[in-house]
Amino acid sequence: MDDCIFCRIVSGDLESDLIYEDDDLVAFRDLNPQAPTHVLLIPRRHVSTVNDLGYADAELIGRLVLAGQRLASEEGIAEEGYRLVLNCNREAGQSVFHLHLHLLGGRRMKWPPG
Ligand code: AMP
Repeated sequence: MDDCIFCRIVSGDLESDLIYEDDDLVAFRDLNPQAPTHVLLIPRRHVSTVNDLGYADAELIGRLVLAGQRLASEEGIAEEGYRLVLNCNREAGQSVFHLHLHLLGGRRMKWPPG
């Protein structure tokens, strides 16, 4: 999708601080980090929100979470702890409508989230 900034990152049309990619997924550092480690993991394929996922996407989402787990380890935050967050639609704070998993860590997190 031409007007989707994350599709533009996937295609290489828009620069990003890329830290991982494979056939289905791309991960890059968030432009406006909310923690010392803040990485976004996205499917290459455009999916707008969690609401658009179906059972056929179960493996894709599993791989997204496992990539987050691996990057947490590589970033050195696995043992202290980290968050994997999927914001769905506006009330949850989703601002980019290409599904993305936030990997956040490197500081103490609060609960409940704001
Ligand atoms: P959300 O609010 O859950 O939709 O998260 C969108 C995230 O994308 C925010 O944390 C933004 O800082 C981040 N973001 C927006 N544009 C870019 C970009 N070009 N490169 C990296 N991160 C971005």
